[in-house]
Amino acid sequence: MRVPTTEHQIFRDSFRKFVAREVTPHVGEWEAAREVPRGLWLSLGRQGYLCPWVPEEYGGLGLDFSYSVIINEELIKGDGFGVGVPLHSDVASPYLASYGTGEAKERYLPGCVTGEVITAVGLSEPGAGSDLAAIRTTAVKDGDFYVLNGQKTFITNGYCADLVVVACKTDPAAGYQGMSLILVDKDAPGFVRGQKLHKMGGHMQDTAELFFADCRVPAWHLLGQEGQGFKYLMEKLQQERLEVCIKCQVMAEECLKEGLNYAKTRQVFGRPVGMHQANAFRLAEMATEVELGRVFLDALIAAHLAGEDVVQRVSMGKYWLGEMVNRVAYQALQLHGGYGYMEEYRICRLSRDVRALSIFAGTSEIMKLIISRNLGLRG
Ligand SMILES: Cc1cc2nc3c(=O)[nH]c(=O)nc-3n(C[C@H](O)[C@H](O)[C@H](O)COP(=O)(O)OP(=O)(O)OC[C@H]3O[C@@H](n4cnc5c(N)ncnc54)[C@H](O)[C@@H]3O)c2cc1C
Repeated sequence: MRVPTTEHQIFRDSFRKFVAREVTPHVGEWEAAREVPRGLWLSLGRQGYLCPWVPEEYGGLGLDFSYSVIINEELIKGDGFGVGVPLHSDVASPYLASYGTGEAKERYLPGCVTGEVITAVGLSEPGAGSDLAAIRTTAVKDGDFYVLNGQKTFITNGYCADLVVVACKTDPAAGYQGMSLILVDKDAPGFVRGQKLHKMGGHMQDTAELFFADCRVPAWHLLGQEGQGFKYLMEKLQQERLEVCIKCQVMAEECLKEGLNYAKTRQVFGRPVGMHQANAFRLAEMATEVELGRVFLDALIAAHLAGEDVVQRVSMGKYWLGEMVNRVAYQALQLHGGYGYMEEYRICRLSRDVRALSIFAGTSEIMKLIISRNLGLRG
């Protein structure tokens, strides 16, 4: 994010130091463990780096989304792409704050700030990803409880989460209008999490399957009203996809940096790689795409902060930036030759990690569907 205030700069400097001290040195170890330790979450919480937007009455700092942008950006620059903090702070916890009952907010929101409550969002199922209206997890009211049955997959923070926002059908016959969002506590009877999934990249991020077998949760765990789940998801998707746009852009900037540095130093046929015109032009194209992405992203962030409806532009951003970062990562690795394929080079990890960006939080194809529908083209 450009044009920061002095407060933003101070916040960024201190968070950058935190990442350099407490995240970057541990990346290899956490990737092998396929999760980040709870100690990191608690440490982040002590410093005010989790859910900084939460109102002071619940223990937060009452800051706006711009501070979340800084946290997201600096985590990526410090190789903490797989730390599930933006998902926790800016995607999952806002559901609790916006639609949770007073009891739920008092019970869980302070923990979201301290790191004692890690959150996740469970939408995707083995049979329903893009087409969320097709989910099959159900919740049936039973006195003062809901009883959930079903399964979720690919859930980020799923293995470590203490609280999951689960999309389910309270009225299966009503299609998307029968969808509700319900909070499931890790200790709820009948809630079981599967193993951490083996992925192509994002290795330090725990991604898991979740199972609900007659899982009982108190009725006050319902978010908002029954049948309004799809509407709430649509309301929150703008910030979720913006959060991914930020990841795309910063990772593209990092890939460009790696490619450029390498191209300036590695000698081939008596000259640096980047001094061969084909490669210089390649880098010029990459730098242009990255610059265009930054201008677009900063405008999106500013509009979101101003409270504008930017669903169409966020969808464009998620589509274009998600594809752009993959192009830039591919070219940056290519400039490295065989070294780019070696783990000791940063571009190797970056290239693995970027691949999911055009898939999660809505694929590029789904973004095009939204964009074209908003253009009046209903398929
Ligand atoms: C690393 C990772 C983390 C994730 N984290 C979470 C999480 O925390 N919570 C969660 O709920 N989910 C999560 N997901 C799931 C993710 O949101 C889904 O994978 C994604 O929405 C796509 O769904 P799908 O995998 O079922 O693919 P499908 O929906 O089966 O799509 C398959 C292909 O068909 C295309 N397609 C689908 N519909 C259309 C159409 N109408 N027209 C044209 N093409 C179409 C898709 O673009 C895709 O190319 C995560 C996924 C990954 C990889």
